[in-house]
Amino acid sequence: MPRRTIGHLEKKKRTEGAEISSSTPASKVVKKSRRELSGVKGDLKHQSVAPSPEVFAAMEHYDKVHWMTSEEDQTTYKINQDVMIVPNSKDIRHNKKNAPAELGWEDLWYGRILDIRGDGEVDPEVWFHIAWYYSPKWFMTVKAKETRLKDLGRLEMIFAPEHQDIIHAHTLNGVEIVYKFKEEDFDAEDIPNESFYTRSTYDTTKRIWLDPPPKRHCLCLETFKLWEKQKRVLHYCPRQGCHKWYHESCLKESKLYQTHDRVDLFEKEWQVSFDEDQFEKIVTEVAGLPREAGVYTAKYEGLSPVVLAYARQPIVKGGDHRVHGNMGAVLRARWIVHQAVRRGVMPPTDYEKYVEYRPEPEDWDSDSDSDAESEGSAVETAIDENEQHEHIDPLPGKKRKRPSESSVQGPTSMETELPLEPRVSGIKYEHTMDGRQYLAYKCPNCREII
Ligand SMILES: [Zn+2]
Ligand SMILES: [Zn+2]
Repeated sequence: MPRRTIGHLEKKKRTEGAEISSSTPASKVVKKSRRELSGVKGDLKHQSVAPSPEVFAAMEHYDKVHWMTSEEDQTTYKINQDVMIVPNSKDIRHNKKNAPAELGWEDLWYGRILDIRGDGEVDPEVWFHIAWYYSPKWFMTVKAKETRLKDLGRLEMIFAPEHQDIIHAHTLNGVEIVYKFKEEDFDAEDIPNESFYTRSTYDTTKRIWLDPPPKRHCLCLETFKLWEKQKRVLHYCPRQGCHKWYHESCLKESKLYQTHDRVDLFEKEWQVSFDEDQFEKIVTEVAGLPREAGVYTAKYEGLSPVVLAYARQPIVKGGDHRVHGNMGAVLRARWIVHQAVRRGVMPPTDYEKYVEYRPEPEDWDSDSDSDAESEGSAVETAIDENEQHEHIDPLPGKKRKRPSESSVQGPTSMETELPLEPRVSGIKYEHTMDGRQYLAYKCPNCREII
């Protein structure tokens, strides 16, 4: 007979597991609006006094806890998961007359589970050791150097690993993924719309950044923020000495653009913009791909139209171009085109596939645990090696299938290495028009077409 631990919250958990796959682009995944109420009532009546760190350390350790708020609603909490926490000071019913009895999503607190311990009784008191995420407004109170509230996105979190607390299981309100936003990595995973995200880590004890604060871009010196209402698009200058992002709206305002009725004049400039020193990763990657021997002499006419189309577009991100934009696919295409046409290097075998699709990641996630397990005891104490590994970037709902066996055709074919999963950066790009003319923006720094 499994033991059940009944929580005291009236809980209404967000829908989790927004899946991103080639058939469901992340742009189509719409999460619950943050302006809606969470369904959580901030009137925790039974706040037990947290144990001291010494008392906590002496308690029995649990790898995971199945926590129930009703017979139907159960959540499994594990080490390294990000969770929603009901603020213990938010007794909002007493704040104002007619105040809503429920908290908004942004009123909840967020943390990462570092440890789970309890008193080992039949119906145990369970405590969580957590490290906090700071919301932008809360983060401003630490007065970190060079931080402006406007540098942080609406749903951005600053991770504060040194600010830790021991909280009771009653205060948890479900699992919430805080996506790791790797701004500099053009091959990083996309992030579902309206998700919480983090890119910076701050040590609140030593008052130093462990992962730097968001980088400022453009002429306006603003950061790139996800889920902006204005959906601003940014353009990148990939030339030596530049390597900067600029808002399309700022370039337009500064009259940094050209128009022409022939798009090929712009395409000529886009396709040659590549900095070998900066994008060494791509240079090395392409050099390692299999290719036929010989010298390439067929010029542009002999190259894949798909790859040429990628090479001949500006590098953009933001707005409809998503979190990482088209940079990965465009730069790969440009490098292959450049080497073939100017240096006579044979394009790699299946280079079209290489530009459009991504290779198999090394870390296939074989853990298929969901947070709705219905079997087992309320508290599991068995040590499971798989649960102990570092799992900083949980991305459930993004598990990918392995390439099917049928796609494997032979040991020398590229298809043995490349499952047909489109690169995040391989999105389609439509050229910008200004009336009946094509429009291209210019870099404020080098003044070239970007
Ligand atoms: Zn700007
Ligand atoms: Zn430039």
